[in-house]
Amino acid sequence: MMKKVKEREMKEHRLVDLFWECTLSCNAHCKHCGSSAECKKYTGELTTQEIKDAFKQIAHDMDASKILINVT
Ligand code: SF4
Repeated sequence: MMKKVKEREMKEHRLVDLFWECTLSCNAHCKHCGSSAECKKYTGELTTQEIKDAFKQIAHDMDASKILINVT
């Protein structure tokens, strides 16, 4: 049941633009910043391996050649 729902949702709401903000930890203090990033270490952020796994899952589930990916 959940698999069918997931498949339908993925068909109806195709991922076309993926904006991946790797961390909220940043010490640059850019004036133009639109992020809620702060100069501190956040706990609970994804590990490098978890991020790699997420991208692998996206590549497996979707046509990655049709997704605009921004990593920041
Ligand atoms: S724009 Fe990017 S680099 Fe600059 S403060 Fe914001 S998160 Fe940091």
